[in-house]
Amino acid sequence: MTSPALDTVTAAPTDVDVVVVGAGMAGMYLLHRLRAKGLSTTVLESADDVGGTWYWNRYPGARCDIQSVDYSYSFDEDLQQEWEWSEKYATQPEILRYLQHVADRFDLRRDIQFETRVESAAWDEENSLWRISTDAGAEVTARWYIMATGCLSMPKVLDIDGADSFAGPTYFNSRWPHEGVDFTGMRVGLVGTGSSAIQSIPVIAEQASELVVFQRTPNFSVPAGHGPVPPDRIADIKGRYPDYRQEARESRGGVPLPETMDSARMLPADEREAKLEESWQEGDLLGFLNTFADSAINQESNDLIAGFVHDKIRSIVEDPETAEALCPTDHPIGTKRLCLDDNYFATYNLPHVSLVNLRKEPITTITERGIDTSDRSFEFDALVMATGFDAMTGAIVAVDITGRNGVSLKEKWADGPITYLGLGITEFPNFFTVTGPQSPSVLSNMAVSIEQHVEWITDCIGHMHDEGFDVIEPTQVAQDGWHQHTLDCADITLFPKAKSWYMGANVPGKPRVFLPYIGGVGSYRETCDEVAAGGYVGFSLAGATKTQCNDGVIRRAQPDVAILLQMMDEMGLPPLESMSPDDARAFMAAGAEQRPPGPEIGEVVDGTFPGPAGDLAYRLYRPPTSGPHRVVVYFHGGGWVLGSADSDDPLCRDLCLQSDAIIVSCDYRHAPEARFPAPVDDAVAALQWVADNQGDLGGNGSPVIVAGWSAGANLAAVVAQSARDSAGPPIAGQVLITPVTDCDWGRASFTENADGYVLTRGLMTWFWDHYCDETDRTDPRASPIRGELAGLPPALVVTAQFDPLRDEGTAYADAMREAGVIVEHLPLRGQMHTSVSSVDVIISANDTRTQIAKTIRNFT
Ligand code: FAD
Ligand code: NAP
Repeated sequence: MTSPALDTVTAAPTDVDVVVVGAGMAGMYLLHRLRAKGLSTTVLESADDVGGTWYWNRYPGARCDIQSVDYSYSFDEDLQQEWEWSEKYATQPEILRYLQHVADRFDLRRDIQFETRVESAAWDEENSLWRISTDAGAEVTARWYIMATGCLSMPKVLDIDGADSFAGPTYFNSRWPHEGVDFTGMRVGLVGTGSSAIQSIPVIAEQASELVVFQRTPNFSVPAGHGPVPPDRIADIKGRYPDYRQEARESRGGVPLPETMDSARMLPADEREAKLEESWQEGDLLGFLNTFADSAINQESNDLIAGFVHDKIRSIVEDPETAEALCPTDHPIGTKRLCLDDNYFATYNLPHVSLVNLRKEPITTITERGIDTSDRSFEFDALVMATGFDAMTGAIVAVDITGRNGVSLKEKWADGPITYLGLGITEFPNFFTVTGPQSPSVLSNMAVSIEQHVEWITDCIGHMHDEGFDVIEPTQVAQDGWHQHTLDCADITLFPKAKSWYMGANVPGKPRVFLPYIGGVGSYRETCDEVAAGGYVGFSLAGATKTQCNDGVIRRAQPDVAILLQMMDEMGLPPLESMSPDDARAFMAAGAEQRPPGPEIGEVVDGTFPGPAGDLAYRLYRPPTSGPHRVVVYFHGGGWVLGSADSDDPLCRDLCLQSDAIIVSCDYRHAPEARFPAPVDDAVAALQWVADNQGDLGGNGSPVIVAGWSAGANLAAVVAQSARDSAGPPIAGQVLITPVTDCDWGRASFTENADGYVLTRGLMTWFWDHYCDETDRTDPRASPIRGELAGLPPALVVTAQFDPLRDEGTAYADAMREAGVIVEHLPLRGQMHTSVSSVDVIISANDTRTQIAKTIRNFT
């Protein structure tokens, strides 16, 4: 699929400028904003009033799980000043009253057509408009079509046998009767233990004579700490609402929270427990997950946090079997929406409340009288189904939407949604989704995400009108790039490990893909703003007399690479090349103390070996398994000027653990004190010494492997050539991680990545100048690509997209292959020179480190 052809368009008149589907929080604000831009707008809504989520979900105990001062509109200062929330987490009736107040205040209902379900929408190519059909009759035409249909508005079809058999009433939390339900004296069976169930179970238990909860998967929940908002907090926030809201917009989850850099696993146990206890008492789900910086990315840290909650559950629930059944163990904490509760776990201590663990006795069928499991028959007076939603895509594909050439959105998304920014879709011109898949949406305070989307969409439409464009559509390149970026972001987290509705896993047959964008509300907003400021980068625009296409990928670096670069940028670090070598070494050593230490391994031994000009240090990393082991001779990076065993310590630990090999990290003298060829001589001596002594070091006697990163990879490549030429020790393989292989900077990567990715052209100049005279640089012992390559041991060459050295690494891999060497080349998309060595910092390079270790295991 290519980007749309850029022809000018003929746009026919329409009934209204814009049709919006849905009159929840999103549709209401859209209407207000579109009106303000002078656009005629009709909102079509299947319910008989506004409110969306808060119109439908009237079950007992329903409340928001983001504090109300945050979960509310920010677009109107008078509105936010005049409205008083009675509780920290407002109840459903109060939130609905608020949304009704907004509808009244801005006179919204006059442009909302209630009790009207949209059934289909088709793009009319010839006239550049949308034709929208509803269950209420007449077709409506509009230039713009916006789905504000909600992420959690389409109830999941009940997938239990005998769903219609029960003779008594069955209530769905997502479609609760407006008149309410009195469960007094009733035997109630409730299926589900998600957020809706966890909110309603304690309240239903207050009325029912018996409540049996059918749980398939337990969920993590923290206490909400309900109550009024302290007056001083209200006064504080109202006194600075605009600033407070701005902080929310720039935050990660749409709520201002303190920045934390603490790692759960790196803090002493007592400090960790104290922090968790404090967060537990605070009663805030984003706050609880924000206790540590690494809860969503590091399994060990996540396990510690999960363990804390397990202990809480065990301390609350009296029956040990029930307590165990309520402890979630099948997913990392936070990878399913964390629940907020009011005495949920304690409810199971009530004599008339019991839990059926469906993992042990699955439901076989719903019967006329109740529910049968594999072991028992239960009889009830009423059933409650808190069974969730076909989230994020359900309500969108429920409408038969066809774009250019009759392409169906449902079919286009058959393998999972693909969008540009979660806002638009190729082949669906002038079509937007609010909080759609691949936007932060359900991972955030949705009030913030809704406002951001509404403002972006309405500004975009305004821009189109002002600039004389009629049709806008994402380009394929931009959409593919965004799709890749959303997957990259999810892949560095633990989220894909959970069978959650975020993954589409709750609906049978739905593709398993991570639906929202996890890059954070603030950075997502920046991206969208950047797109708009660049004249709608990644979109093609067409009008009666002109066209414009700003194709391009908006985020190419791996997300953690981008975050690290941004952090470094914000720190305003001085360039290394502006320092003396000693100052640069001290600076690097100080930095190394701040980073994660790498994994625990069997043993670390420091020692010395004889170098040509005196003893040199080595550090040996022994795996935790019993030996003897393979031996890898490793040379650290640092441009021949900087570095030590310390600098590459986390990488060596990681390689040792994953490859089950002994890594001997050998020092060499540094330039400028010891210029070329001194480091080479030292590396040659190191290789020989390790090979000669490998039995004493714990080696298994098979040929050693040489490895290195950056300048260390240069030395590894050089010693491999030297060993071949001088009957040195046999070498089983070379591992060259983002190596320096040449002194020719004419290759494209030296220009493309000259700046901005830690290793810069300026720094490489500084390294070479300290290391080697101009005249020596073409010596193969400095630039191994200029040497004889035939007969070298098999090699793994790792190159990174955003590395000045990328192309010389690639050239070395290609040249060795041409010379008959067995070469595995790993080109890393979105990575930079330092990615592989940044263990537990650049998570997106985890797979690469695993692959390197696998190659080490496989060298024969
Ligand atoms: P909705 O409120 O879902 O509104 C969509 C509207 O579109 C609905 O009224 C629906 O009837 C209508 N519609 C859909 N399809 C059609 C069609 N084909 N034709 C006509 N009309 C249609 N988020 C938070 O950030 N914090 C919270 O505390 C929070 N609590 C929640 C509690 C519950 C019980 C649920 C289910 C969700 C909660 N959410 C929460 C998420 C919540 O959905 C959003 O915060 C927000 O209310 C969504 O607003 P919306 O306008 O985008 O969608
Ligand atoms: P949910 O989290 O998807 O929970 C549905 C529950 O039903 C799960 O426990 C699920 O078990 C169970 N279930 C579904 N089908 C089942 C079957 N066939 N047999 C047995 N059990 C079955 O849905 P939800 O509780 O409605 O919440 C959805 C989202 O809405 C939340 O994550 C949250 O974002 C939002 N929400 C927020 C609040 C709030 O506090 N403000 C309240 C409600 C909802 P499995 O997990 O095993 O599938």
